Amino acid sequence: MKICVMPGDGIGREIVVQALRVLDKVAATYGKKFETEEALIGGCAIDATGSPLPEATVRLCKAADAVLLGAVGGPKWDAIDPAIRPERGLLGIRKELGLFANLRPASLFPELKHACFLRPDIVERGIDLLVVRELTGGAYFGTPKGVEVRDGERVGFNNMIYSEHEISRIAKVGFEAARKRRKQLCSVDKANVLDVSRLWREVVIEVSQDYPDVELSHMYVDNAAMQLVRDPSQFDVIVTENLFGDILSDEASVITGSIGMLPSASLGAGNPGLFEPIHGSAPDIAGQNKANPLATILSVAMLLRYSSTEKTGDMTAVAAAIEGAVQKTLSQGYRTGDIREPGCKLVGCVEMADAVLANL
Ligand code: NAD
Repeated sequence: MKICVMPGDGIGREIVVQALRVLDKVAATYGKKFETEEALIGGCAIDATGSPLPEATVRLCKAADAVLLGAVGGPKWDAIDPAIRPERGLLGIRKELGLFANLRPASLFPELKHACFLRPDIVERGIDLLVVRELTGGAYFGTPKGVEVRDGERVGFNNMIYSEHEISRIAKVGFEAARKRRKQLCSVDKANVLDVSRLWREVVIEVSQDYPDVELSHMYVDNAAMQLVRDPSQFDVIVTENLFGDILSDEASVITGSIGMLPSASLGAGNPGLFEPIHGSAPDIAGQNKANPLATILSVAMLLRYSSTEKTGDMTAVAAAIEGAVQKTLSQGYRTGDIREPGCKLVGCVEMADAVLANL
Protein backbone atom coordinates (compact mmCIF):
# COMPACT_ATOMS: atom_id res chain seq x y z
CA MET A 1 0.00 0.00 0.00
CA LYS A 2 1.35 3.39 -1.04
CA ILE A 3 0.67 6.11 1.51
CA CYS A 4 1.23 9.83 1.05
CA VAL A 5 2.07 11.30 4.45
CA MET A 6 1.47 14.98 5.21
CA PRO A 7 2.50 15.89 8.78
CA GLY A 8 1.55 19.57 8.36
CA ASP A 9 2.07 22.04 11.20
CA GLY A 10 2.18 22.33 15.00
CA ILE A 11 1.85 18.94 16.67
CA GLY A 12 1.28 17.42 13.20
CA ARG A 13 4.81 16.11 12.80
CA GLU A 14 5.04 14.71 16.35
CA ILE A 15 1.82 12.70 16.09
CA VAL A 16 2.40 11.52 12.53
CA VAL A 17 5.90 10.23 13.40
CA GLN A 18 4.32 8.08 16.12
CA ALA A 19 1.58 6.84 13.79
CA LEU A 20 4.24 5.80 11.26
CA ARG A 21 6.01 3.75 13.94
CA VAL A 22 2.73 1.87 14.39
CA LEU A 23 2.55 1.31 10.63
CA ASP A 24 6.13 -0.07 10.65
CA LYS A 25 5.22 -2.45 13.44
CA VAL A 26 2.12 -3.60 11.54
CA ALA A 27 4.31 -4.23 8.49
CA ALA A 28 6.75 -6.32 10.50
CA THR A 29 4.11 -8.21 12.51
CA TYR A 30 1.56 -8.92 9.81
CA GLY A 31 3.85 -9.22 6.77
CA LYS A 32 2.39 -6.14 5.06
CA LYS A 33 4.33 -3.72 2.88
CA PHE A 34 3.80 0.02 3.06
CA GLU A 35 5.57 2.59 0.91
CA THR A 36 5.36 6.06 2.41
CA GLU A 37 6.17 9.36 0.76
CA GLU A 38 6.09 12.72 2.53
CA ALA A 39 4.42 15.84 1.12
CA LEU A 40 3.99 19.46 2.24
CA ILE A 41 0.64 20.98 3.14
CA GLY A 42 -0.53 24.01 5.14
CA GLY A 43 1.79 26.49 6.83
CA CYS A 44 5.00 24.54 6.25
CA ALA A 45 4.13 24.38 2.53
CA ILE A 46 3.53 28.16 2.47
CA ASP A 47 6.96 28.71 4.05
CA ALA A 48 8.69 26.40 1.56
CA THR A 49 6.82 27.17 -1.67
CA GLY A 50 4.44 30.10 -1.14
CA SER A 51 1.39 27.84 -1.57
CA PRO A 52 -0.53 25.84 1.07
CA LEU A 53 -1.04 23.07 -1.49
CA PRO A 54 1.90 22.75 -3.88
CA GLU A 55 1.40 20.93 -7.19
CA ALA A 56 3.86 18.23 -6.11
CA THR A 57 1.65 17.43 -3.10
CA VAL A 58 -1.42 16.99 -5.27
CA ARG A 59 0.55 14.69 -7.59
CA LEU A 60 1.85 12.54 -4.74
CA CYS A 61 -1.62 12.27 -3.14
CA LYS A 62 -3.25 11.22 -6.40
CA ALA A 63 -0.61 8.56 -6.99
CA ALA A 64 -1.10 7.04 -3.52
CA ASP A 65 -3.58 4.42 -2.22
CA ALA A 66 -4.30 6.56 0.84
CA VAL A 67 -3.30 9.85 2.43
CA LEU A 68 -2.43 10.39 6.11
CA LEU A 69 -2.58 13.95 7.44
CA GLY A 70 -1.49 15.44 10.78
CA ALA A 71 -2.95 18.94 11.12
CA VAL A 72 -2.48 22.35 9.54
CA GLY A 73 -2.39 25.95 10.70
CA GLY A 74 -1.05 28.04 13.54
CA PRO A 75 -0.63 31.66 14.72
CA LYS A 76 2.38 32.15 12.44
CA TRP A 77 0.08 32.16 9.40
CA ASP A 78 -2.99 33.82 10.95
CA ALA A 79 -2.35 37.25 9.43
CA ILE A 80 -1.56 36.23 5.85
CA ASP A 81 -3.76 36.64 2.77
CA PRO A 82 -6.90 34.49 3.32
CA ALA A 83 -6.52 33.11 -0.22
CA ILE A 84 -3.37 31.21 0.78
CA ARG A 85 -4.08 30.39 4.43
CA PRO A 86 -3.01 26.90 5.62
CA GLU A 87 -6.67 25.70 5.77
CA ARG A 88 -6.88 26.38 2.03
CA GLY A 89 -4.50 23.46 1.58
CA LEU A 90 -6.94 21.16 3.33
CA LEU A 91 -9.98 22.36 1.37
CA GLY A 92 -7.92 22.17 -1.82
CA ILE A 93 -6.81 18.57 -1.38
CA ARG A 94 -10.37 17.48 -0.46
CA LYS A 95 -11.52 19.02 -3.74
CA GLU A 96 -8.65 17.59 -5.82
CA LEU A 97 -9.38 14.09 -4.52
CA GLY A 98 -13.17 14.48 -4.93
CA LEU A 99 -13.77 13.52 -1.30
CA PHE A 100 -17.53 13.61 -0.84
CA ALA A 101 -17.95 11.47 2.27
CA ASN A 102 -16.68 12.32 5.73
CA LEU A 103 -16.63 9.51 8.29
CA ARG A 104 -16.38 10.54 11.93
CA PRO A 105 -16.53 7.79 14.52
CA ALA A 106 -17.46 8.82 18.04
CA SER A 107 -16.66 6.03 20.40
CA LEU A 108 -16.00 6.12 24.07
CA PHE A 109 -13.37 3.76 25.38
CA PRO A 110 -14.75 2.47 28.71
CA GLU A 111 -11.43 3.50 30.26
CA LEU A 112 -12.22 7.16 29.45
CA LYS A 113 -15.74 7.22 30.85
CA HIS A 114 -14.78 9.99 33.26
CA ALA A 115 -14.16 12.36 30.31
CA CYS A 116 -17.69 11.91 28.91
CA PHE A 117 -20.10 14.78 29.38
CA LEU A 118 -23.18 12.58 29.81
CA ARG A 119 -24.74 11.07 32.95
CA PRO A 120 -23.07 7.84 34.16
CA ASP A 121 -26.22 5.73 33.56
CA ILE A 122 -26.26 6.87 29.91
CA VAL A 123 -22.51 6.33 29.51
CA GLU A 124 -22.87 2.83 30.97
CA ARG A 125 -24.79 1.76 27.83
CA GLY A 126 -21.74 2.62 25.71
CA ILE A 127 -21.07 4.98 22.80
CA ASP A 128 -19.80 3.54 19.53
CA LEU A 129 -21.24 5.29 16.52
CA LEU A 130 -20.13 6.60 13.16
CA VAL A 131 -21.43 9.75 11.46
CA VAL A 132 -21.22 9.65 7.65
CA ARG A 133 -21.57 13.23 6.42
CA GLU A 134 -22.03 14.34 2.81
CA LEU A 135 -19.20 16.80 2.20
CA THR A 136 -19.56 18.52 -1.15
CA GLY A 137 -23.24 19.40 -1.59
CA GLY A 138 -26.21 20.92 0.21
CA ALA A 139 -26.56 24.46 1.50
CA TYR A 140 -22.78 25.03 1.78
CA PHE A 141 -22.28 24.82 -1.98
CA GLY A 142 -25.76 25.26 -3.51
CA THR A 143 -26.56 28.19 -5.76
CA PRO A 144 -28.10 30.70 -6.02
CA LYS A 145 -26.72 32.19 -2.84
CA GLY A 146 -25.93 35.64 -1.60
CA VAL A 147 -27.11 38.76 0.20
CA GLU A 148 -29.20 41.25 -1.77
CA VAL A 149 -31.39 44.25 -1.13
CA ARG A 150 -35.03 43.47 -1.84
CA ASP A 151 -37.83 45.93 -1.16
CA GLY A 152 -35.45 48.15 0.73
CA GLU A 153 -34.03 45.53 3.13
CA ARG A 154 -31.15 43.08 3.01
CA VAL A 155 -32.04 39.45 2.31
CA GLY A 156 -29.62 36.53 2.71
CA PHE A 157 -30.17 33.16 1.05
CA ASN A 158 -28.58 29.79 0.35
CA ASN A 159 -29.88 26.79 -1.52
CA MET A 160 -29.95 23.32 0.02
CA ILE A 161 -29.82 21.31 -3.17
CA TYR A 162 -29.04 17.64 -3.81
CA SER A 163 -29.28 15.63 -6.98
CA GLU A 164 -30.13 11.96 -6.98
CA HIS A 165 -26.60 10.74 -7.74
CA GLU A 166 -25.16 12.76 -4.85
CA ILE A 167 -27.62 11.17 -2.44
CA SER A 168 -27.21 7.62 -3.70
CA ARG A 169 -23.40 7.69 -3.58
CA ILE A 170 -23.31 8.93 0.05
CA ALA A 171 -26.07 6.46 0.99
CA LYS A 172 -23.90 3.66 -0.43
CA VAL A 173 -20.97 4.79 1.73
CA GLY A 174 -23.33 4.68 4.74
CA PHE A 175 -24.57 1.17 3.93
CA GLU A 176 -21.06 -0.12 3.22
CA ALA A 177 -19.81 1.35 6.52
CA ALA A 178 -22.74 -0.24 8.39
CA ARG A 179 -21.83 -3.58 6.82
CA LYS A 180 -18.38 -3.32 8.38
CA ARG A 181 -19.99 -2.61 11.79
CA ARG A 182 -23.27 -3.61 13.49
CA LYS A 183 -25.34 -3.37 10.28
CA GLN A 184 -27.69 -0.59 11.37
CA LEU A 185 -28.03 2.60 9.36
CA CYS A 186 -30.02 5.63 10.50
CA SER A 187 -30.64 8.20 7.77
CA VAL A 188 -31.14 11.68 9.23
CA ASP A 189 -33.19 14.27 7.34
CA LYS A 190 -35.95 16.85 7.77
CA ALA A 191 -38.44 15.22 5.40
CA ASN A 192 -41.44 16.63 7.33
CA VAL A 193 -40.47 20.15 6.21
CA LEU A 194 -37.88 20.14 3.41
CA ASP A 195 -38.50 18.95 -0.16
CA VAL A 196 -34.82 18.19 -0.60
CA SER A 197 -35.09 15.88 2.44
CA ARG A 198 -38.08 14.06 0.92
CA LEU A 199 -35.96 13.23 -2.13
CA TRP A 200 -33.10 12.28 0.21
CA ARG A 201 -35.33 9.77 2.01
CA GLU A 202 -36.73 8.34 -1.24
CA VAL A 203 -33.28 7.75 -2.72
CA VAL A 204 -31.90 6.24 0.51
CA ILE A 205 -34.81 3.77 0.51
CA GLU A 206 -34.09 2.90 -3.13
CA VAL A 207 -30.40 2.26 -2.37
CA SER A 208 -31.39 0.11 0.62
CA GLN A 209 -32.74 -2.53 -1.81
CA ASP A 210 -29.10 -3.47 -2.51
CA TYR A 211 -28.36 -3.88 1.20
CA PRO A 212 -30.98 -6.27 2.62
CA ASP A 213 -28.55 -7.25 5.39
CA VAL A 214 -28.47 -3.68 6.78
CA GLU A 215 -31.36 -2.45 8.93
CA LEU A 216 -32.40 1.04 7.76
CA SER A 217 -34.22 3.60 9.91
CA HIS A 218 -35.01 7.31 9.45
CA MET A 219 -34.93 10.15 11.95
CA TYR A 220 -35.63 13.88 11.74
CA VAL A 221 -32.55 15.94 12.47
CA ASP A 222 -34.02 17.74 15.50
CA ASN A 223 -34.83 14.41 17.10
CA ALA A 224 -31.39 13.01 16.16
CA ALA A 225 -29.72 15.93 17.96
CA MET A 226 -31.75 15.08 21.08
CA GLN A 227 -31.29 11.33 20.87
CA LEU A 228 -27.50 11.74 20.62
CA VAL A 229 -27.44 13.12 24.15
CA ARG A 230 -30.35 11.09 25.55
CA ASP A 231 -29.11 7.69 24.41
CA PRO A 232 -26.22 7.57 21.92
CA SER A 233 -26.00 3.78 22.38
CA GLN A 234 -28.98 3.40 19.99
CA PHE A 235 -26.86 4.48 16.99
CA ASP A 236 -24.51 2.43 14.86
CA VAL A 237 -24.07 4.42 11.61
CA ILE A 238 -25.77 7.76 10.90
CA VAL A 239 -25.83 9.04 7.31
CA THR A 240 -26.83 12.62 6.64
CA GLU A 241 -26.37 15.67 4.43
CA ASN A 242 -23.65 18.29 4.76
CA LEU A 243 -25.13 20.90 7.15
CA PHE A 244 -26.88 18.39 9.44
CA GLY A 245 -23.72 16.26 9.43
CA ASP A 246 -21.49 19.21 10.32
CA ILE A 247 -23.51 19.81 13.47
CA LEU A 248 -24.26 16.21 14.46
CA SER A 249 -20.67 14.99 13.98
CA ASP A 250 -19.36 17.73 16.26
CA GLU A 251 -22.08 17.00 18.81
CA ALA A 252 -21.30 13.28 18.71
CA SER A 253 -17.58 13.81 19.18
CA VAL A 254 -17.77 16.38 21.94
CA ILE A 255 -19.90 14.14 24.16
CA THR A 256 -17.01 11.68 24.29
CA GLY A 257 -14.99 14.49 25.83
CA SER A 258 -11.58 13.81 24.33
CA ILE A 259 -10.50 15.62 21.17
CA GLY A 260 -7.10 13.90 21.15
CA MET A 261 -8.74 10.49 20.70
CA LEU A 262 -10.89 10.89 17.59
CA PRO A 263 -9.91 9.90 14.04
CA SER A 264 -11.69 10.68 10.76
CA ALA A 265 -11.77 9.61 7.14
CA SER A 266 -12.80 11.42 3.97
CA LEU A 267 -13.56 9.20 1.01
CA GLY A 268 -14.16 9.76 -2.70
CA ALA A 269 -14.98 7.48 -5.58
CA GLY A 270 -11.95 5.73 -7.03
CA ASN A 271 -9.52 8.15 -5.39
CA PRO A 272 -7.34 7.70 -2.32
CA GLY A 273 -9.08 8.54 0.95
CA LEU A 274 -7.73 11.11 3.39
CA PHE A 275 -7.31 10.08 7.03
CA GLU A 276 -6.66 12.53 9.85
CA PRO A 277 -7.33 13.23 13.52
CA ILE A 278 -10.28 15.62 14.04
CA HIS A 279 -8.24 18.00 16.19
CA GLY A 280 -6.11 20.88 14.93
CA SER A 281 -2.40 21.65 15.17
CA ALA A 282 -2.55 22.54 18.90
CA PRO A 283 0.14 25.27 18.76
CA ASP A 284 -0.11 25.69 22.56
CA ILE A 285 1.56 22.30 23.14
CA ALA A 286 3.55 21.86 19.90
CA GLY A 287 7.13 20.65 20.28
CA GLN A 288 6.70 19.72 23.95
CA ASN A 289 6.04 15.96 23.64
CA LYS A 290 2.60 16.57 25.17
CA ALA A 291 0.32 15.75 22.22
CA ASN A 292 -1.92 12.71 22.37
CA PRO A 293 -0.96 10.56 19.35
CA LEU A 294 -3.94 8.19 19.68
CA ALA A 295 -6.31 10.03 17.29
CA THR A 296 -3.66 9.77 14.59
CA ILE A 297 -2.86 6.14 15.42
CA LEU A 298 -6.61 5.40 15.20
CA SER A 299 -6.65 7.28 11.87
CA VAL A 300 -4.10 4.74 10.63
CA ALA A 301 -6.50 1.97 11.70
CA MET A 302 -9.28 3.68 9.69
CA LEU A 303 -6.92 4.07 6.76
CA LEU A 304 -6.24 0.35 6.70
CA ARG A 305 -9.93 -0.53 7.13
CA TYR A 306 -11.21 1.78 4.38
CA SER A 307 -8.33 1.61 1.88
CA SER A 308 -8.08 -2.16 1.57
CA THR A 309 -8.23 -3.25 -2.06
CA GLU A 310 -7.73 -6.53 -3.87
CA LYS A 311 -4.09 -5.51 -4.30
CA THR A 312 -3.50 -4.89 -0.59
CA GLY A 313 -5.76 -7.62 0.80
CA ASP A 314 -8.33 -7.11 3.53
CA MET A 315 -6.80 -5.15 6.40
CA THR A 316 -9.84 -5.15 8.69
CA ALA A 317 -8.17 -7.50 11.15
CA VAL A 318 -5.02 -5.37 11.24
CA ALA A 319 -7.13 -2.25 11.88
CA ALA A 320 -8.89 -4.05 14.73
CA ALA A 321 -5.52 -5.08 16.18
CA ILE A 322 -4.40 -1.43 16.31
CA GLU A 323 -7.67 -0.43 18.00
CA GLY A 324 -7.24 -3.30 20.46
CA ALA A 325 -3.70 -2.17 21.27
CA VAL A 326 -4.95 1.38 21.95
CA GLN A 327 -7.66 0.06 24.25
CA LYS A 328 -5.17 -2.13 26.13
CA THR A 329 -2.82 0.84 26.54
CA LEU A 330 -5.65 2.86 28.08
CA SER A 331 -6.65 0.00 30.35
CA GLN A 332 -3.04 -0.13 31.58
CA GLY A 333 -3.56 3.44 32.80
CA TYR A 334 -1.40 5.35 30.28
CA ARG A 335 -2.68 8.89 29.71
CA THR A 336 -1.45 12.03 27.96
CA GLY A 337 -2.25 15.39 29.57
CA ASP A 338 -5.52 15.93 27.69
CA ILE A 339 -7.08 12.74 29.14
CA ARG A 340 -5.28 12.65 32.48
CA GLU A 341 -7.11 11.54 35.62
CA PRO A 342 -6.04 10.93 39.22
CA GLY A 343 -3.83 7.87 39.62
CA CYS A 344 -3.04 7.50 35.89
CA LYS A 345 0.40 6.96 34.36
CA LEU A 346 0.96 10.40 32.83
CA VAL A 347 3.10 10.08 29.69
CA GLY A 348 4.16 12.13 26.67
CA CYS A 349 3.44 11.61 22.99
CA VAL A 350 6.41 9.27 22.38
CA GLU A 351 5.83 7.17 25.52
CA MET A 352 2.13 6.75 24.68
CA ALA A 353 3.10 5.40 21.26
CA ASP A 354 5.75 3.14 22.89
CA ALA A 355 3.00 1.57 25.00
CA VAL A 356 0.74 1.03 21.97
CA LEU A 357 3.62 -0.58 20.07
CA ALA A 358 4.34 -2.89 22.99
CA ASN A 359 0.67 -3.96 23.03
CA LEU A 360 0.38 -4.45 19.28
P1 NAD B 1 -6.95 22.47 18.26
O1 NAD B 1 -7.71 21.23 18.01
O2 NAD B 1 -5.62 22.59 17.61
O3 NAD B 1 -6.73 22.65 19.84
C1 NAD B 1 -7.79 22.82 20.78
C2 NAD B 1 -7.32 22.40 22.18
O4 NAD B 1 -7.20 20.97 22.22
C3 NAD B 1 -5.95 22.95 22.53
O5 NAD B 1 -5.90 23.23 23.91
C4 NAD B 1 -5.00 21.80 22.24
O6 NAD B 1 -3.83 21.80 23.03
C5 NAD B 1 -5.87 20.58 22.53
N1 NAD B 1 -5.50 19.45 21.68
C6 NAD B 1 -5.78 19.31 20.36
N2 NAD B 1 -5.27 18.15 19.90
C7 NAD B 1 -4.65 17.57 20.93
C8 NAD B 1 -3.90 16.38 21.09
N3 NAD B 1 -3.68 15.52 20.06
N4 NAD B 1 -3.39 16.08 22.29
C9 NAD B 1 -3.59 16.90 23.33
N5 NAD B 1 -4.27 18.05 23.27
C10 NAD B 1 -4.79 18.39 22.07
O7 NAD B 1 -7.88 23.70 17.83
P2 NAD B 1 -7.57 25.27 17.80
O8 NAD B 1 -6.71 25.64 18.95
O9 NAD B 1 -8.84 25.92 17.60
O10 NAD B 1 -6.73 25.49 16.45
C11 NAD B 1 -5.30 25.54 16.38
C12 NAD B 1 -4.89 25.60 14.90
O11 NAD B 1 -5.29 24.37 14.26
C13 NAD B 1 -5.57 26.72 14.13
O12 NAD B 1 -4.62 27.27 13.23
C14 NAD B 1 -6.68 26.03 13.39
O13 NAD B 1 -7.02 26.70 12.19
C15 NAD B 1 -6.06 24.69 13.10
N6 NAD B 1 -7.02 23.58 12.89
C16 NAD B 1 -6.67 22.66 11.96
C17 NAD B 1 -7.48 21.56 11.76
C18 NAD B 1 -7.01 20.52 10.78
O14 NAD B 1 -5.87 20.52 10.40
N7 NAD B 1 -7.86 19.60 10.38
C19 NAD B 1 -8.65 21.40 12.51
C20 NAD B 1 -8.98 22.34 13.48
C21 NAD B 1 -8.13 23.44 13.66
